[in-house]
Amino acid sequence: MARFRLLGVATLHRLGCSRTECPCSSLSAQPSREWHLFIKCQIESHLEKWPDSVELLLLLSHVQVVHLEEGVEAVDRLLKAEKSKPSLEQQFRLYRLKNRVQSSLWEQARDTKHLLAKEAVQ
Ligand SMILES: [Zn+2]
Repeated sequence: MARFRLLGVATLHRLGCSRTECPCSSLSAQPSREWHLFIKCQIESHLEKWPDSVELLLLLSHVQVVHLEEGVEAVDRLLKAEKSKPSLEQQFRLYRLKNRVQSSLWEQARDTKHLLAKEAVQ
């Protein structure tokens, strides 16, 4: 149901979209990275109107961290959300997203360390 609603939103959006950087023209019927980029683009355009909205900051961070592997890029937004008086429920979501970013950074650092150690041996 949510997917059909999203398809409808995207179809309506495409009729009036003139932004060259918007990925709406390359959306397929199947869920894909382009859909998450489209959703990210939509949330970003709303953030231009409401830059301090904790809900929008958390939504965008979620899309970036969970679906687009852009955790590092989401850190600034998470910090901004933290300073914008989040509710208790939002604080929990913030905490989970920060943990997820932190663990993915640890994994990246560990992989890099392994790679460097391997190169040093050769
Ligand atoms: Zn568009």
